[in-house]
Amino acid sequence: MQEVELHVERARCIRCGACASLAPGVFALRGEAYDVARQPATDEERVLARAAVLNCPSHAIRVAR
Ligand code: SF4
Repeated sequence: MQEVELHVERARCIRCGACASLAPGVFALRGEAYDVARQPATDEERVLARAAVLNCPSHAIRVAR
């Protein structure tokens, strides 16, 4: 599966926690907003990370590639 590079636009995050629920370890709360804790390392994590992109209610998560 294709590598992904995630980025959270933290100013848009409403701290719903959906991303971290879907892909714990990839997303985590950092201060006032969620952020990428580490880039996905496995196909499963990449699938879950893409699900987080689709489910983020504020469209704060971007995939760079
Ligand atoms: S799903 Fe989006 S709005 Fe919700 S915590 Fe994650 S980045 Fe923030």
